[in-house]
Amino acid sequence: MGMDQFDPLLPIPNKEQKLRDLAFCTIWLDSLKQFSNVQLSASDRTDYYLLKGLLESKQWYLSEFKAWEWQASSGIGGRIDLILNRDKEIPKKARDLYELLSKMPAYFSQCKKNLTDPSLEHTRLALQRLEGSRDLFSVKIARFIEELETQHDPLSTMLQSKMPSMVDRASKSMEDFIEHLRINVQQEINTDPNRRSFRIGKEMYAEKFKYDIAGQFTAQEIFDYGLAEKELIHNKMQIIASQLWGKYFQTENANPSLADVGKLINEIAKNHVSRDEYFEAIKSQIPELEAFVNEKDLIWLDPEKPLEVRETPGYMRGVAGASISAPGPYEKMRPTFYNVTPLDHYTDEEAESYLREYNHYILQILNIHEAVPGHYTQLMYANESPSLIKSLFGNGTMIEGWACYVERMMLEEGYGDNAPEMWLMYYKWNLRELCNMLIDIGVHANDMSKEDVMHILVNEAFQESAEAEGKWRRVQYTSVQLCSYYTGLIEILQLREDVKKAKGEDFSLKAFHEDFLSYGSAPVKYIRDLMGY
Ligand code: ZN
Ligand code: ZN
Repeated sequence: MGMDQFDPLLPIPNKEQKLRDLAFCTIWLDSLKQFSNVQLSASDRTDYYLLKGLLESKQWYLSEFKAWEWQASSGIGGRIDLILNRDKEIPKKARDLYELLSKMPAYFSQCKKNLTDPSLEHTRLALQRLEGSRDLFSVKIARFIEELETQHDPLSTMLQSKMPSMVDRASKSMEDFIEHLRINVQQEINTDPNRRSFRIGKEMYAEKFKYDIAGQFTAQEIFDYGLAEKELIHNKMQIIASQLWGKYFQTENANPSLADVGKLINEIAKNHVSRDEYFEAIKSQIPELEAFVNEKDLIWLDPEKPLEVRETPGYMRGVAGASISAPGPYEKMRPTFYNVTPLDHYTDEEAESYLREYNHYILQILNIHEAVPGHYTQLMYANESPSLIKSLFGNGTMIEGWACYVERMMLEEGYGDNAPEMWLMYYKWNLRELCNMLIDIGVHANDMSKEDVMHILVNEAFQESAEAEGKWRRVQYTSVQLCSYYTGLIEILQLREDVKKAKGEDFSLKAFHEDFLSYGSAPVKYIRDLMGY
């Protein structure tokens, strides 16, 4: 979170460490009890519930979920990169790096022991990410050592002689772990019919949903809500399709079917950037979005905080196409990175499929979601929140809900000139959020097959095959997280409606947004409470 003195810490995930973690939870839950009957301010009460929820969740993960037994570790590439990117003197960075690297052999050897029942899918993901970490050693650390060699202070001189062999030992321990996983994939779990499934099951799912989402709905409730909403969205899309049909197909179609809607979307999706323009197109859109937000006075944006668009580092690749890495509350001045995965590892066909999915319209919605006024803007406000608890222990449902909410809000305010194409594509995107929730619950709690997942995503959510395949991969690696988008969106929309009703003519969208974000990344139900609704 920005306290760089902890950069070299790497707890070895052994039994003693788990017992220490469990004891930590027990002790602090016990200490929290003294506040259960005390009169607290609204903000303190929310912090109390957040901490209690966090500790109970940690306890559950340690004693029930036990990820270390079946999900292979992806290594510590992010930690190494963090140290290398710190704005810090070279000798101090070198000391942190040296210390972290020295713990890697013990870390990986423990991970190997922990992995008693690996799932094939998680092992494959870990392999991809560990292999993506190799350039940290061969390129980034090597470059850093060259820098270190130009230093002449005593600490640097000492580390200059010790660093290369330590780098070597650390990298060998990672290679050893990679080899272990590779053998696992080839020989053991691949052929074992009783191997651990990536599906977490109905019971575990309901629990995980409660801890991770921390919202007002149960998994079943939002599932039912989403099913009904899916029909309404399909109807709206069919109306738009009938209006646009003549423009794209030079004939009339008064009653387009869902397949017709898909056909029209495919036609409109031909409007996309080329694979070489992709990165620059994203970069150049950020200032345009900022200008729109300012012009419409939708929310105050801090012009002092920079957003850097960069290529996604290797150790982070494999799941999402674009993401935000924001500074923690203790490092407010570090830049926020907008990670964009370039399309260079794609074949021409894959790139075309991806670019049609992220066509001219969707690419703008993606940028609204990830950057302005989505994640980038929200996390900026969260770092200013007076409650450290809330900015440290952010609630993913509120965070993703906000990013999904602003997509719709921007369009409602006229972004994209109310073009029917823009709205049609928005509904497609919105369906994706909705169907992510449906398939996540379906796959993990109801044994939904890959065929059913592909049918929902391709036929009912109009996705390109590459995107749908990617989602199938993601739903194997993660659970519940895919529900946070839609669940959070619905919670925020319902809250806004309630505020609108109560304020009547005095309702201001800007005031609502700034008030909502001022409480930090707390669950929406607590923010609702703090706002007095
Ligand atoms: Zn094309
Ligand atoms: Zn997001």
